[in-house]
Amino acid sequence: EQIPVITIDGPSGAGKGTAARLVAEQLGWHLLDSGAIYRVLAVATLHHHLTIEDEESLIPIAAHLDVQFEITSQGEGKVILEGEDVSNSIRTEEVGAIASKIAAFPRVREALLRRQRAFKVAPGLVADGRDMGTIVFSNAPVKVFLTASAEERAQRRFNQLKEKGFDVKIGRLLDDIRQRDERDQTRTVAPLIPAEGALIVDSTDLSIDEVVAKILTFANGKL
Ligand code: C5P
Repeated sequence: EQIPVITIDGPSGAGKGTAARLVAEQLGWHLLDSGAIYRVLAVATLHHHLTIEDEESLIPIAAHLDVQFEITSQGEGKVILEGEDVSNSIRTEEVGAIASKIAAFPRVREALLRRQRAFKVAPGLVADGRDMGTIVFSNAPVKVFLTASAEERAQRRFNQLKEKGFDVKIGRLLDDIRQRDERDQTRTVAPLIPAEGALIVDSTDLSIDEVVAKILTFANGKL
């Protein structure tokens, strides 16, 4: 029996994470936040004092990454690296930037493929990232590409960080977002592009509930 997968790809800040979590909750399916895997790998390279330019040294770390995703009794997602709770430290801009750099290495991506595919478990999986529909789950029955303007994404990120008490400049965030978009879109392996047959959703002027409703309607027609 085929286990269904809904892929949600798009640039950072488009609302993929929240949309994926809500869609998974609605359907009672599993969730894969693939960006968290790249972020955890970034933290692991810092722990192991590796230079991120050295693809070779990253591969064994990627292949043996000791990471666990847990749900607390309060229903919150926790990310554990080598026994240590890294849920907060993986979310910094610094770690995001490192993640985006190491994600450009083809053999690093390859080393993470099996681990990501292992999340496909009955009754179904909602997977968010950059290449879920194009590569990791290329025969998924339902594919979504979720985007939003760079300005809107910078604003959302700004609000998120401010809420957590981080002091940030919005102009700096916008620059970072543009740089990361450029890197994610132009890299030769797994560039950020909509998968064939993907529903394209621009969330710039949509609420998260409207985004989720669009995805669920589209999925209903396909499953
Ligand atoms: O989505 P998030 O911002 O957490 O991802 C961090 C970085 O990991 C992204 O900038 C992207 O370069 C990389 N990534 C990727 N492929 C994925 C998910 C994330 O290359 N499927």
